[in-house]
Amino acid sequence: MASRRACVVCETNQYAEDYCNIDNQNYLCCSHCGLIYVDELLKTKELYKAYSGNSIKSVRRKLVAPFRKLKHYKNFTLQKQRAEQIINFSINQIKISGDRKNYLDIGCNRGFNLAAAHEQGLNIYGIELVPELIRPFINTYPQYKSQIFSERFEDAKLRLNADMFDLITGIDVLEHFENVVKDLQGIYEVLKPGGIVILQTPDVACERAHKEECQWGALKPLEHLNLFSGANLEILTKRIGFTDYRIEKEFEEADGNFVAVMSK
Ligand SMILES: [Zn+2]
Repeated sequence: MASRRACVVCETNQYAEDYCNIDNQNYLCCSHCGLIYVDELLKTKELYKAYSGNSIKSVRRKLVAPFRKLKHYKNFTLQKQRAEQIINFSINQIKISGDRKNYLDIGCNRGFNLAAAHEQGLNIYGIELVPELIRPFINTYPQYKSQIFSERFEDAKLRLNADMFDLITGIDVLEHFENVVKDLQGIYEVLKPGGIVILQTPDVACERAHKEECQWGALKPLEHLNLFSGANLEILTKRIGFTDYRIEKEFEEADGNFVAVMSK
């Protein structure tokens, strides 16, 4: 069917089949590689409503964010521990020796990973679309203000240099990218040769995805635009140039995740 969008892994719509219709959005499944993806991407503005919205919660967040610090979060200790686990694992993957390491967290949310990496002596950079989310982090670590970007990765990338980062993480972020191939190419560009990228994303090959089909919690068409498996992400990232690809145990199970570790 000519009208269907092409799978980004197989670069064709030849194997695209209707998968699930959720909130009037059509998910396709590529029967060749298993990628589940939104057929028709809405305009960026429409997609962003799903993130910032105009709910009472987000209005409240905007009001209190300027006065908050990280330690004021209700579940501060739990989030700190979770971040320390991710950062300890990530730092152990770094093979480049030498100076202070540059670390980028894409989709850094409240900045707990950044705080944990700072504690370990890394020079940190973060990208978070929702400015209120990251504001308490900046209040806590004002020295990093100029290294936190509240914009899409493709825009923030213009302020970054090639071969800049020893470590890049994207925890629950790959599935949100509107132009996932371009963004992975961008990540490759800003990564140092020998640097490490660690991505956690929902796993279409997991048992829950099969069993729950259209009820699977990771199917949120306004936010999750491409859902990968460990195998098809390997094909795509190797085509871009990444090497030493391997799958690791997820940091958080959620709806069924996998973690991919790769190098340049
Ligand atoms: Zn495919």
